[in-house]
Amino acid sequence: MTPHTYPTYDDASGRRFGPEEEEAVLRVVRSGHLSRVGGTETAALESEFAALMGMPHAVAVATGSAALHCAVAALDLNPGDEVIVPPITDAGTVIGAMAQGLVPVFADLEPVTGCLTPETVAAAITGRTRAIVVVHLFGGAADVEGIVELCHSRGIKVVEDCAQAYLTTTDGGALVGTVGDIGCFSLQQSKHVTTGDGGLLVTGDAGLARRASLFADKGWPRDTGERTHLFLGLNYRMTDLVAAVARAQLLKVDGVVADRRRVADVLNKAVARPGVRVPEVPRHSFWLYPVVLDPAVVGGDNRRFVELLEGSGLAASAGYLQRVLYDNPVFTERRTFGDSGWPLTLGSGPEPHCPVAERMVAETLVTVGVNENFSAADVAAAAAALSGALDRMAEDAR
Ligand SMILES: *Cc1c(COP(=O)(O)O)cnc(C)c1O
Repeated sequence: MTPHTYPTYDDASGRRFGPEEEEAVLRVVRSGHLSRVGGTETAALESEFAALMGMPHAVAVATGSAALHCAVAALDLNPGDEVIVPPITDAGTVIGAMAQGLVPVFADLEPVTGCLTPETVAAAITGRTRAIVVVHLFGGAADVEGIVELCHSRGIKVVEDCAQAYLTTTDGGALVGTVGDIGCFSLQQSKHVTTGDGGLLVTGDAGLARRASLFADKGWPRDTGERTHLFLGLNYRMTDLVAAVARAQLLKVDGVVADRRRVADVLNKAVARPGVRVPEVPRHSFWLYPVVLDPAVVGGDNRRFVELLEGSGLAASAGYLQRVLYDNPVFTERRTFGDSGWPLTLGSGPEPHCPVAERMVAETLVTVGVNENFSAADVAAAAAALSGALDRMAEDAR
């Protein structure tokens, strides 16, 4: 098989940078003022992102992980409090909570979307649960309305991790990130819109916005004119140089998501057959294109499928992660602060065990790299590679 060369998020081929971003960089560099402190770009980005999301408050920070850290810090919980998290996600979902002394409690996932559900969350709630971080995995919405209903009646806060889900909408028609208490986004290189690194959060709660914003600037309320530190915070500030590029990128996010949906629509038709589950197009934003296999029906597991795609040029991963998050040394060996094991030592629950998530990684889940710059020829090549691999698995199984 001669490999097809696809556009990639790692360079200009698969990213949407143009004169708008170049002008933004020059504008800020020529001004001589690159910091958000005393500048205008980051503040403007915050207003523009809040408007895009239809929310009263947005805070811009250094990374998506920083946004998630600011979100849990804003909740002002106590060390040892529990936060429910999913086991298939980027580590950024969990590390900020751990840095705050919170104990991550892993709940299992819905077997096709790979998201937490009200049922799996309910099964993980204890008397110490104070928050949950729900991830809208690969651009598909979790049932965050159901999760909010479950959690809010118990005084549990809901943070939405939307790093992979710009402009994804829920069953109820809401934009993800606007349903829970705080919604967090990433501008890392691989995300729908990017500044290399960067993060954003939105909230409807002025108090949470204020705390998140102070946490990202050393607890320093600069707008009061006082040089004081109201509580323990970090320096997670975005720079005005980054914010200017983010402003240009945000103007393109609609088109980026529309073009990814167009790609997924073709791929969905190519892989449609018994034993293959793919997301419905309209509400999903396709950060990756996820395919979930029933190995018994399609004649092979995710590893076999990815093996058959090797040489096609298509970037595909069996399971997305090498292992579920809780099977990494940070958890298995409690590599946290010195040899203390803190805050994991504060946990009282059983060892994490999420059989659905483990099976997705080991056997059923394949993620395929797609982006907004796939041409018709790229989409056709990807469709042929995916359906060819499925045909081959079916033949081998006969
Ligand atoms: C990318 C990502 C993050 C972390 O964002 P960074 O900007 O890389 O820190 C967190 N959660 C999920 C689901 C992500 O995909």
